[in-house]
Amino acid sequence: MRKPEKNKFHPDPEQLSLMPDQSGNDINGLGETGFRRPTRIYWHNPNEIPHGGIQKWMVERFNRVPDFKTVYAEGDRGPQTLNPVAGSVATDSPQNWSARVKNFALGHEADLVGIAKMDPKWSYDDCGGDTEPWIIVLGVEMDHARLAKAPSSDTDTASAHEVSVQYNRGARAAAQLANWVRGQGYHSVSHAGPWAGPLTLTPAALACGFGELGKHGNIINRQYGSSFRLSAVVTDLPLLADTADEFGADGFCTRCQVCINGCPVDAISDQKQLVRGIEKWYVDFDKCIPYFNETHGCGVCIAVCPWSRPGAAARLAEKMLHRRKRLKST
Ligand code: SF4
Ligand code: SF4
Repeated sequence: MRKPEKNKFHPDPEQLSLMPDQSGNDINGLGETGFRRPTRIYWHNPNEIPHGGIQKWMVERFNRVPDFKTVYAEGDRGPQTLNPVAGSVATDSPQNWSARVKNFALGHEADLVGIAKMDPKWSYDDCGGDTEPWIIVLGVEMDHARLAKAPSSDTDTASAHEVSVQYNRGARAAAQLANWVRGQGYHSVSHAGPWAGPLTLTPAALACGFGELGKHGNIINRQYGSSFRLSAVVTDLPLLADTADEFGADGFCTRCQVCINGCPVDAISDQKQLVRGIEKWYVDFDKCIPYFNETHGCGVCIAVCPWSRPGAAARLAEKMLHRRKRLKST
């Protein structure tokens, strides 16, 4: 990994001139004691969000790089229009549907799949809530060797290119699954990054057992660490919810400093913070986003996380579970 120089970053004046007066941390509800639904902040219609100017600037710079130019515009993201819902409704038990959904997803490009009952709290505050009762979250693994080249530049593109390629794979996996569900006679809609849909996928992925939130603000999974991307399908197909998976990543983060030391702009805090009434690990949006924009998506924190190294997560999870058992028995 190219080691970014700590605190040597000075944002491009052009980007600074587009920076809104409003703090992204305020939009995210940092320091707020009461619960509220999240507010749209990034990867939405740029004309509808305060940070739309810098988002547009970032996307335009990204699209000027030959390696990135066609990755979303021409990359295979699966069918852009989903099939009509079949006229006849197939029946099966929620248990069987859940097994069949997972089987299909894992056989069609997803590396992880989990199911959660839809929670209106995950919808952005101006999106009205998703009306479908279930969300199926998919994960696709990133190639860590390419991710580890973060941060990207116009000439060193491996990491950002890998993220884009995997977002496309996540989009294909979600669209294929949504079409399969529609073929059974049920409603479904797919959501895939990098653009944000009407709901935040991270809390849904936590609820359906993808892992624990890490200090770097991303999920740590017991198989892939943080080296994966999310997509999702919302549906009225009757399903069974999975449960959250806690294996000690949160405790590990309490003692680890790797992402804090790796972040070139000190955006990662050593303490959990109150965000819209919930105490959790939180990345400073205002510090992160200028660097994120100028490096085509940064990603240093997830690349350096010890859990992201190929094969490491399962070993670390086992160690943390063993430690927990030992502490319980003393
Ligand atoms: S680098 Fe360390 S502190 Fe940061 S998320 Fe990973 S395990 Fe947690
Ligand atoms: S993505 Fe943001 S928080 Fe993570 S290392 Fe880069 S600047 Fe820091």
